[in-house]
Amino acid sequence: MTASFYPPQRTLMGPGPSDVSPRVLSAMARPTIGHLDPLFVAMMDEVKQLLQYAFQTKNTLTIPVSAPGSAGMETCFVNLIEAGDTVIVCQNGVFGLRMQENVERCGAKAVLVQDEWGRACDPQKLEDALKANPDARFVAFVHAETSTGASTDVKAMCEVAHRYDCLTIVDAVTSLGGSPLDVDDWDVDAVYSGTQKCLSCTPGLSPISFNEVALDVIKHRKTKVQSWFLDLNLVMAYWGEGAKRAYHHTAPVNALYALHESLLILKEEGLEQAWARHQTHHQALKAGLESLGLNFVVPESERLPQLNAVRIPDGVNDAQVRAMLLQDYQLEIGAGLGVMAGKVWRIGLMGYACRKDNVLTCVLALSEVLGRLHIPFAHKDVMAATLAAYGE
Ligand SMILES: *Cc1c(COP(=O)(O)O)cnc(C)c1O
Repeated sequence: MTASFYPPQRTLMGPGPSDVSPRVLSAMARPTIGHLDPLFVAMMDEVKQLLQYAFQTKNTLTIPVSAPGSAGMETCFVNLIEAGDTVIVCQNGVFGLRMQENVERCGAKAVLVQDEWGRACDPQKLEDALKANPDARFVAFVHAETSTGASTDVKAMCEVAHRYDCLTIVDAVTSLGGSPLDVDDWDVDAVYSGTQKCLSCTPGLSPISFNEVALDVIKHRKTKVQSWFLDLNLVMAYWGEGAKRAYHHTAPVNALYALHESLLILKEEGLEQAWARHQTHHQALKAGLESLGLNFVVPESERLPQLNAVRIPDGVNDAQVRAMLLQDYQLEIGAGLGVMAGKVWRIGLMGYACRKDNVLTCVLALSEVLGRLHIPFAHKDVMAATLAAYGE
Protein backbone atom coordinates (compact mmCIF):
# COMPACT_ATOMS: atom_id res chain seq x y z
CA MET A 1 0.00 0.00 0.00
CA THR A 2 1.16 3.52 -0.69
CA ALA A 3 2.20 5.28 2.51
CA SER A 4 3.02 8.83 3.55
CA PHE A 5 6.25 10.11 2.07
CA TYR A 6 9.08 10.83 4.52
CA PRO A 7 12.16 12.15 2.73
CA PRO A 8 15.57 11.60 4.34
CA GLN A 9 17.47 14.50 5.87
CA ARG A 10 20.02 15.35 3.18
CA THR A 11 22.67 18.05 3.09
CA LEU A 12 21.98 20.01 -0.09
CA MET A 13 25.20 21.41 -1.58
CA GLY A 14 24.23 21.42 -5.21
CA PRO A 15 22.99 24.24 -7.47
CA GLY A 16 19.66 24.43 -5.63
CA PRO A 17 17.43 23.72 -3.89
CA SER A 18 19.61 24.48 -0.89
CA ASP A 19 18.98 23.35 2.67
CA VAL A 20 15.89 25.02 4.05
CA SER A 21 16.06 26.43 7.57
CA PRO A 22 13.81 24.66 10.12
CA ARG A 23 12.35 28.10 10.84
CA VAL A 24 11.15 28.32 7.24
CA LEU A 25 9.74 24.79 7.24
CA SER A 26 7.83 25.43 10.43
CA ALA A 27 6.47 28.73 9.07
CA MET A 28 5.17 26.77 6.11
CA ALA A 29 3.27 24.35 8.36
CA ARG A 30 1.19 27.13 9.97
CA PRO A 31 -2.58 27.25 9.31
CA THR A 32 -3.64 28.22 5.82
CA ILE A 33 -5.78 31.36 5.80
CA GLY A 34 -7.64 33.04 2.95
CA HIS A 35 -5.47 34.78 0.39
CA LEU A 36 -7.64 37.90 0.72
CA ASP A 37 -7.76 37.73 4.54
CA PRO A 38 -6.68 41.14 5.87
CA LEU A 39 -3.96 39.51 7.98
CA PHE A 40 -2.60 37.75 4.92
CA VAL A 41 -2.68 40.96 2.90
CA ALA A 42 -0.69 42.68 5.65
CA MET A 43 1.89 39.90 5.48
CA MET A 44 2.09 40.34 1.69
CA ASP A 45 3.03 43.98 2.23
CA GLU A 46 5.84 42.87 4.52
CA VAL A 47 7.02 40.38 1.89
CA LYS A 48 7.26 43.23 -0.61
CA GLN A 49 9.24 45.39 1.83
CA LEU A 50 11.56 42.53 2.70
CA LEU A 51 12.13 41.82 -0.99
CA GLN A 52 12.92 45.49 -1.58
CA TYR A 53 15.58 45.13 1.10
CA ALA A 54 17.00 41.94 -0.41
CA PHE A 55 17.17 43.49 -3.90
CA GLN A 56 18.28 46.89 -2.49
CA THR A 57 15.56 48.73 -4.35
CA LYS A 58 12.73 51.17 -3.83
CA ASN A 59 10.86 49.78 -6.86
CA THR A 60 7.14 49.57 -6.07
CA LEU A 61 6.75 46.65 -8.43
CA THR A 62 8.72 44.19 -6.31
CA ILE A 63 6.77 40.96 -5.78
CA PRO A 64 7.13 37.19 -5.85
CA VAL A 65 5.69 35.48 -8.94
CA SER A 66 3.74 32.35 -7.93
CA ALA A 67 6.01 29.89 -9.72
CA PRO A 68 9.73 29.00 -9.86
CA GLY A 69 12.64 31.10 -11.14
CA SER A 70 11.95 30.14 -14.75
CA ALA A 71 8.55 31.83 -14.45
CA GLY A 72 10.24 34.98 -13.17
CA MET A 73 12.45 34.85 -16.26
CA GLU A 74 9.42 34.44 -18.48
CA THR A 75 7.58 37.26 -16.66
CA CYS A 76 10.37 39.67 -17.55
CA PHE A 77 10.48 38.69 -21.20
CA VAL A 78 6.76 38.41 -21.98
CA ASN A 79 5.91 41.70 -20.30
CA LEU A 80 8.73 43.79 -21.78
CA ILE A 81 9.37 42.30 -25.20
CA GLU A 82 7.08 42.60 -28.21
CA ALA A 83 7.22 40.88 -31.58
CA GLY A 84 9.77 42.58 -33.82
CA ASP A 85 11.96 43.90 -30.96
CA THR A 86 15.69 43.31 -31.03
CA VAL A 87 17.22 41.99 -27.81
CA ILE A 88 20.91 41.49 -27.11
CA VAL A 89 21.35 38.28 -25.12
CA CYS A 90 24.73 37.70 -23.51
CA GLN A 91 25.47 34.02 -23.10
CA ASN A 92 28.09 32.42 -20.89
CA GLY A 93 26.21 29.32 -19.78
CA VAL A 94 22.93 27.42 -19.72
CA PHE A 95 20.69 30.18 -18.42
CA GLY A 96 21.72 32.60 -21.15
CA LEU A 97 20.56 29.99 -23.67
CA ARG A 98 17.15 30.00 -22.00
CA MET A 99 16.98 33.77 -22.29
CA GLN A 100 17.47 33.45 -26.04
CA GLU A 101 14.64 30.89 -26.15
CA ASN A 102 12.37 33.32 -24.28
CA VAL A 103 13.19 36.18 -26.65
CA GLU A 104 12.51 34.09 -29.73
CA ARG A 105 9.22 32.80 -28.35
CA CYS A 106 8.14 36.43 -27.92
CA GLY A 107 8.59 36.83 -31.68
CA ALA A 108 11.60 39.06 -31.15
CA LYS A 109 15.08 38.86 -32.61
CA ALA A 110 17.87 37.70 -30.29
CA VAL A 111 21.35 38.98 -31.06
CA LEU A 112 23.82 36.74 -29.26
CA VAL A 113 26.97 37.89 -27.53
CA GLN A 114 28.90 34.84 -26.50
CA ASP A 115 31.51 34.37 -23.86
CA GLU A 116 33.29 31.20 -22.96
CA TRP A 117 31.51 29.03 -20.39
CA GLY A 118 33.23 29.62 -17.07
CA ARG A 119 33.91 33.30 -17.79
CA ALA A 120 31.95 36.47 -17.00
CA CYS A 121 30.08 38.35 -19.74
CA ASP A 122 32.37 40.95 -21.30
CA PRO A 123 31.02 44.56 -21.31
CA GLN A 124 33.28 45.39 -24.29
CA LYS A 125 31.69 42.65 -26.40
CA LEU A 126 28.29 43.97 -25.38
CA GLU A 127 29.28 47.45 -26.50
CA ASP A 128 30.46 46.13 -29.88
CA ALA A 129 27.12 44.36 -30.34
CA LEU A 130 25.18 47.49 -29.42
CA LYS A 131 27.17 49.52 -31.99
CA ALA A 132 26.43 46.91 -34.64
CA ASN A 133 22.72 46.72 -33.74
CA PRO A 134 21.39 50.25 -33.24
CA ASP A 135 17.80 48.94 -33.26
CA ALA A 136 18.33 46.93 -30.05
CA ARG A 137 15.99 47.92 -27.21
CA PHE A 138 16.94 45.45 -24.47
CA VAL A 139 20.00 43.73 -23.08
CA ALA A 140 19.62 40.49 -21.11
CA PHE A 141 22.24 38.60 -19.13
CA VAL A 142 22.77 36.41 -16.09
CA HIS A 143 24.41 37.87 -12.97
CA ALA A 144 25.37 34.56 -11.34
CA GLU A 145 25.63 31.81 -13.96
CA THR A 146 24.79 28.70 -11.93
CA SER A 147 25.90 26.32 -14.67
CA THR A 148 29.54 27.45 -14.34
CA GLY A 149 29.91 29.58 -11.20
CA ALA A 150 30.84 32.78 -13.07
CA SER A 151 29.82 36.22 -11.81
CA THR A 152 29.19 39.05 -14.27
CA ASP A 153 29.73 42.74 -13.46
CA VAL A 154 26.11 43.91 -13.53
CA LYS A 155 26.92 47.56 -12.94
CA ALA A 156 29.34 47.73 -15.87
CA MET A 157 26.94 45.89 -18.18
CA CYS A 158 24.03 48.18 -17.23
CA GLU A 159 26.15 51.29 -17.82
CA VAL A 160 26.99 50.13 -21.34
CA ALA A 161 23.38 49.14 -22.11
CA HIS A 162 22.00 52.47 -20.95
CA ARG A 163 24.54 54.43 -23.01
CA TYR A 164 22.84 52.84 -26.03
CA ASP A 165 19.32 53.49 -24.68
CA CYS A 166 18.61 49.86 -23.89
CA LEU A 167 16.77 48.46 -20.89
CA THR A 168 18.38 45.65 -18.92
CA ILE A 169 16.88 42.32 -17.88
CA VAL A 170 19.03 40.58 -15.28
CA ASP A 171 18.86 37.02 -13.95
CA ALA A 172 19.69 37.19 -10.24
CA VAL A 173 18.34 33.75 -9.32
CA THR A 174 21.55 32.54 -7.70
CA SER A 175 22.97 35.90 -6.63
CA LEU A 176 20.11 37.21 -4.46
CA GLY A 177 21.18 36.91 -0.82
CA GLY A 178 24.50 35.24 -1.67
CA SER A 179 26.69 37.87 -3.32
CA PRO A 180 26.48 41.66 -3.71
CA LEU A 181 23.47 42.84 -5.73
CA ASP A 182 22.25 46.43 -5.66
CA VAL A 183 19.36 46.86 -8.07
CA ASP A 184 18.92 50.64 -7.63
CA ASP A 185 22.57 51.63 -7.44
CA TRP A 186 23.42 49.47 -10.46
CA ASP A 187 20.40 50.76 -12.36
CA VAL A 188 18.92 47.38 -13.27
CA ASP A 189 15.58 47.82 -15.08
CA ALA A 190 14.06 44.37 -14.60
CA VAL A 191 15.37 41.56 -12.42
CA TYR A 192 14.14 38.12 -11.39
CA SER A 193 15.28 35.62 -8.82
CA GLY A 194 14.32 32.36 -7.13
CA THR A 195 13.62 31.30 -3.58
CA GLN A 196 15.52 28.01 -3.42
CA LYS A 197 19.06 29.21 -3.89
CA CYS A 198 20.65 31.70 -1.45
CA LEU A 199 17.35 32.63 0.21
CA SER A 200 17.13 28.98 1.35
CA CYS A 201 13.38 28.95 1.05
CA THR A 202 11.43 26.12 -0.54
CA PRO A 203 11.39 26.09 -4.37
CA GLY A 204 8.44 27.47 -6.28
CA LEU A 205 8.44 31.26 -6.04
CA SER A 206 10.24 33.87 -8.11
CA PRO A 207 10.85 37.35 -6.71
CA ILE A 208 10.92 40.03 -9.42
CA SER A 209 11.47 43.78 -9.45
CA PHE A 210 10.82 46.32 -12.21
CA ASN A 211 11.78 50.00 -12.11
CA GLU A 212 9.67 52.90 -13.42
CA VAL A 213 11.29 52.82 -16.85
CA ALA A 214 10.42 49.15 -17.28
CA LEU A 215 6.92 49.73 -15.92
CA ASP A 216 6.46 52.47 -18.49
CA VAL A 217 7.37 50.05 -21.28
CA ILE A 218 4.71 47.62 -20.04
CA LYS A 219 2.08 50.37 -19.86
CA HIS A 220 2.77 51.47 -23.42
CA ARG A 221 2.78 48.09 -25.10
CA LYS A 222 1.23 47.96 -28.55
CA THR A 223 -0.09 44.45 -27.95
CA LYS A 224 -1.48 42.61 -24.95
CA VAL A 225 0.94 40.43 -23.00
CA GLN A 226 0.54 37.02 -24.60
CA SER A 227 0.48 35.17 -21.24
CA TRP A 228 -2.62 35.83 -19.16
CA PHE A 229 -1.11 34.35 -15.98
CA LEU A 230 2.14 36.34 -16.11
CA ASP A 231 0.65 39.65 -17.34
CA LEU A 232 1.86 42.10 -14.72
CA ASN A 233 -0.96 44.55 -15.49
CA LEU A 234 -3.31 41.91 -14.07
CA VAL A 235 -1.03 40.54 -11.35
CA MET A 236 -0.59 44.06 -9.97
CA ALA A 237 -4.30 44.27 -9.25
CA TYR A 238 -3.67 41.62 -6.61
CA TRP A 239 -0.23 42.70 -5.38
CA GLY A 240 -0.88 46.42 -5.86
CA GLU A 241 -0.58 49.19 -3.30
CA GLY A 242 -3.04 49.53 -0.39
CA ALA A 243 -6.16 49.79 -2.56
CA LYS A 244 -8.67 46.99 -2.75
CA ARG A 245 -7.10 43.79 -3.97
CA ALA A 246 -8.71 41.89 -6.78
CA TYR A 247 -8.60 38.15 -7.20
CA HIS A 248 -6.22 37.10 -9.94
CA HIS A 249 -5.10 33.62 -8.90
CA THR A 250 -5.04 31.97 -5.49
CA ALA A 251 -1.74 32.94 -3.93
CA PRO A 252 0.38 30.02 -2.67
CA VAL A 253 -0.43 31.04 0.91
CA ASN A 254 1.88 28.73 2.86
CA ALA A 255 4.73 29.15 0.39
CA LEU A 256 4.51 32.88 1.03
CA TYR A 257 4.74 32.31 4.80
CA ALA A 258 7.96 30.47 4.02
CA LEU A 259 9.31 33.29 1.87
CA HIS A 260 8.39 35.83 4.54
CA GLU A 261 10.34 33.83 7.14
CA SER A 262 13.38 33.32 4.91
CA LEU A 263 13.54 37.04 4.09
CA LEU A 264 13.19 37.84 7.77
CA ILE A 265 16.17 35.58 8.50
CA LEU A 266 18.17 37.46 5.84
CA LYS A 267 17.17 40.82 7.32
CA GLU A 268 18.10 39.67 10.84
CA GLU A 269 21.52 38.57 9.65
CA GLY A 270 21.98 41.63 7.43
CA LEU A 271 22.66 41.53 3.69
CA GLU A 272 26.32 42.51 3.94
CA GLN A 273 26.88 39.92 6.66
CA ALA A 274 25.21 37.25 4.50
CA TRP A 275 27.45 38.15 1.55
CA ALA A 276 30.52 38.05 3.81
CA ARG A 277 29.50 34.66 5.21
CA HIS A 278 29.26 33.20 1.70
CA GLN A 279 32.74 34.53 0.95
CA THR A 280 34.26 33.13 4.18
CA HIS A 281 32.97 29.61 3.67
CA HIS A 282 33.81 29.70 -0.03
CA GLN A 283 37.44 30.44 0.85
CA ALA A 284 37.56 27.46 3.20
CA LEU A 285 35.86 25.14 0.72
CA LYS A 286 38.28 26.30 -1.97
CA ALA A 287 41.27 25.53 0.26
CA GLY A 288 39.89 22.05 0.94
CA LEU A 289 39.05 21.28 -2.67
CA GLU A 290 42.39 22.53 -3.95
CA SER A 291 44.21 20.42 -1.38
CA LEU A 292 42.43 17.47 -2.99
CA GLY A 293 43.88 18.48 -6.34
CA LEU A 294 40.58 19.78 -7.70
CA ASN A 295 40.73 22.86 -9.94
CA PHE A 296 38.12 25.58 -10.30
CA VAL A 297 36.52 26.22 -13.69
CA VAL A 298 36.24 30.01 -13.23
CA PRO A 299 39.23 32.37 -12.80
CA GLU A 300 39.41 33.67 -9.24
CA SER A 301 38.36 37.26 -10.00
CA GLU A 302 35.13 36.12 -11.70
CA ARG A 303 34.18 33.40 -9.22
CA LEU A 304 30.92 33.18 -7.29
CA PRO A 305 31.25 32.15 -3.64
CA GLN A 306 27.92 30.32 -3.65
CA LEU A 307 28.55 28.05 -6.65
CA ASN A 308 31.87 26.24 -6.80
CA ALA A 309 32.43 24.44 -10.11
CA VAL A 310 35.50 22.20 -10.12
CA ARG A 311 36.82 19.94 -12.87
CA ILE A 312 36.36 16.22 -12.36
CA PRO A 313 39.79 14.54 -12.53
CA ASP A 314 40.47 12.19 -15.44
CA GLY A 315 39.43 8.62 -14.80
CA VAL A 316 36.90 9.53 -12.11
CA ASN A 317 33.34 8.37 -12.64
CA ASP A 318 31.17 11.44 -12.02
CA ALA A 319 27.90 9.64 -11.31
CA GLN A 320 29.57 7.04 -9.08
CA VAL A 321 31.13 9.67 -6.83
CA ARG A 322 27.89 11.61 -6.50
CA ALA A 323 25.96 8.41 -5.74
CA MET A 324 28.46 7.46 -3.01
CA LEU A 325 28.21 10.92 -1.44
CA LEU A 326 24.44 10.70 -1.44
CA GLN A 327 24.24 7.15 -0.10
CA ASP A 328 27.01 7.22 2.45
CA TYR A 329 26.95 10.85 3.54
CA GLN A 330 23.44 12.06 2.66
CA LEU A 331 25.31 14.75 0.75
CA GLU A 332 24.09 16.13 -2.56
CA ILE A 333 26.45 17.96 -4.89
CA GLY A 334 25.56 19.00 -8.42
CA ALA A 335 26.51 17.50 -11.78
CA GLY A 336 27.60 19.57 -14.76
CA LEU A 337 24.97 21.03 -17.10
CA GLY A 338 25.01 21.25 -20.89
CA VAL A 339 28.51 21.11 -22.36
CA MET A 340 29.90 20.67 -18.84
CA ALA A 341 27.95 17.48 -18.11
CA GLY A 342 30.32 14.79 -16.82
CA LYS A 343 33.18 17.30 -16.72
CA VAL A 344 32.51 19.30 -13.54
CA TRP A 345 30.98 19.09 -10.12
CA ARG A 346 28.99 22.06 -8.91
CA ILE A 347 29.22 22.49 -5.16
CA GLY A 348 26.76 24.97 -3.78
CA LEU A 349 27.21 27.02 -0.62
CA MET A 350 23.85 28.67 -0.57
CA GLY A 351 22.02 30.40 2.25
CA TYR A 352 21.34 28.14 5.22
CA ALA A 353 23.62 25.45 3.72
CA CYS A 354 26.56 27.85 3.70
CA ARG A 355 28.07 26.82 7.05
CA LYS A 356 31.34 25.57 8.45
CA ASP A 357 30.01 22.12 9.37
CA ASN A 358 28.85 21.62 5.78
CA VAL A 359 32.17 22.74 4.32
CA LEU A 360 34.01 20.28 6.56
CA THR A 361 31.56 17.47 5.82
CA CYS A 362 31.88 18.06 2.10
CA VAL A 363 35.68 18.07 1.89
CA LEU A 364 36.00 15.10 4.24
CA ALA A 365 33.37 13.08 2.39
CA LEU A 366 34.90 13.87 -0.99
CA SER A 367 38.41 12.96 0.16
CA GLU A 368 37.19 9.69 1.68
CA VAL A 369 35.22 8.74 -1.44
CA LEU A 370 38.07 9.63 -3.81
CA GLY A 371 40.42 7.68 -1.54
CA ARG A 372 38.16 4.63 -1.65
CA LEU A 373 38.25 4.86 -5.45
CA HIS A 374 42.11 4.94 -5.31
CA ILE A 375 42.40 8.37 -6.85
CA PRO A 376 46.12 8.97 -6.34
CA PHE A 377 46.21 12.70 -5.56
CA ALA A 378 43.58 12.77 -2.82
CA HIS A 379 45.95 13.66 -0.03
CA LYS A 380 45.45 13.44 3.69
CA ASP A 381 45.85 17.01 4.82
CA VAL A 382 42.58 18.21 3.42
CA MET A 383 41.15 18.93 6.87
CA ALA A 384 44.21 20.92 7.92
CA ALA A 385 44.06 22.99 4.72
CA THR A 386 40.37 23.72 5.20
CA LEU A 387 40.71 24.64 8.87
CA ALA A 388 43.70 26.85 8.08
CA ALA A 389 41.44 28.89 5.82
CA TYR A 390 39.25 29.46 8.88
CA GLY A 391 42.36 30.63 10.74
CA GLU A 392 42.53 27.48 12.86
C1 LIG B 1 17.96 27.89 -10.90
C2 LIG B 1 18.10 28.97 -11.92
C3 LIG B 1 17.04 29.37 -12.75
C4 LIG B 1 15.73 28.66 -12.80
O1 LIG B 1 15.06 28.63 -11.60
P1 LIG B 1 13.94 27.50 -11.35
O2 LIG B 1 13.41 27.83 -10.00
O3 LIG B 1 14.65 26.19 -11.43
O4 LIG B 1 12.93 27.64 -12.41
C5 LIG B 1 17.26 30.43 -13.61
N1 LIG B 1 18.44 31.07 -13.67
C6 LIG B 1 19.48 30.71 -12.90
C7 LIG B 1 20.78 31.45 -13.01
C8 LIG B 1 19.34 29.65 -12.01
O5 LIG B 1 20.38 29.28 -11.24
